[in-house]
Amino acid sequence: MSKLIYLDNAATTQVYPEVLDAMLPYFTEHYGNPAAIYSFAGESERAVAKARKQIADVIGAKTEEIYFTGGGSESDNWALKATAEAYSSKGKHIITSAIEHHAILHTAQWLELHGFEVTYVGVDENGKIKLDELEAAIRPDTILISVMAANNEIGTIEPLKEIGAIAKKHGVLFHTDAVQAFAHVPINVDEMNIDMLSASGHKINGPKGIGVMYIRKGVKIRSFIHGGAQERQRRAGTHNVPGIVGIGKAAELAVANMEKNTEYEVKLRDHLIERVLAEIPYTRLNGDRTDRLPNNANFCFRFIEGESMLILLDQAGICGSSGSACTSGSLDPSHVLLAIGLPHEIAHGSLRLTLSEKTTMEDIDYTVDKLKAIIERLRSMSPLYEDFVRKNG
Ligand SMILES: *Cc1c(COP(=O)(O)O)cnc(C)c1O
Repeated sequence: MSKLIYLDNAATTQVYPEVLDAMLPYFTEHYGNPAAIYSFAGESERAVAKARKQIADVIGAKTEEIYFTGGGSESDNWALKATAEAYSSKGKHIITSAIEHHAILHTAQWLELHGFEVTYVGVDENGKIKLDELEAAIRPDTILISVMAANNEIGTIEPLKEIGAIAKKHGVLFHTDAVQAFAHVPINVDEMNIDMLSASGHKINGPKGIGVMYIRKGVKIRSFIHGGAQERQRRAGTHNVPGIVGIGKAAELAVANMEKNTEYEVKLRDHLIERVLAEIPYTRLNGDRTDRLPNNANFCFRFIEGESMLILLDQAGICGSSGSACTSGSLDPSHVLLAIGLPHEIAHGSLRLTLSEKTTMEDIDYTVDKLKAIIERLRSMSPLYEDFVRKNG
């Protein structure tokens, strides 16, 4: 393959060279266990402390409120399961949204099998949580509201401040899965009344398999991984020191460049959206037009099956993703696209393109040109499309 245009940065990102450079000495030279007493381990211990500060600074937290985990999925599991455990004497009701990542949704469903009740609050046609529905769902036995900061498929940024205010008013804990938003858009745990927050290294140009959980002081959840006394006895397991150094450095870089990268990516994203909507008929943009991640574009093309589109894009060297879950052995379209009210047949033809600050305008134009040709070709083979054109054309 001569050309590679990587437009799947919501799935994972490239590790920055500066991040890798920061990590490398902790595999070889400074391999000491940060929990050890001897001074050789001091370098590892200091590196973990520095990363904790780098993470805390991103969201306005205190260092002792930051815990390192094995990734975003673990943080999400921890937040829901440990809150359920610790607060079950107060109640067994949890509120989340219909468009969460599966790390939240499947955990919530697991809790339903174990005696908890979950309300899945709906979203509007742009993917924004219905605040009135959210507030109305709160009951005396509600112990947790978990709503994502930004959606991984359609890029919609949720009104965290308003959700936090509702949670606080009713004395309910508020967790947010901020894996897509952390270090990409501004978040402040105090201003937004966030009690717990999940983040992940590999979505911010850091390494895979390292995550973060913010737990506000006073929130009483206990350990989810049992064993040693690491992380103030709340997350057992020898520290992944290179990973921790990596996520810390990646977060620092992301925040330092946030304004610049946002401005650049929004320009490219909007050009992509404008060209696709103008040049490819029977197309819609999914997600909020303005409150949206700077790097996210998500479309539905009528009379198109997402998987075929991805395969043809791949042949042109373009990596994208589709909400249709055929790859996971299911024919169901994305739960997010259904939640914003799209019918099955339209939700099947979705395409998510997520940019990075390395994407160029040429990449975008090349992608749109290829996409146009691919869609024309697929539609020309579609009996449904032919039928539609005959009736409407
Ligand atoms: C990627 C992602 C996760 C999972 O994070 P991992 O580190 O891959 O386990 C959870 N939530 C959202 C919104 C994500 O985008």
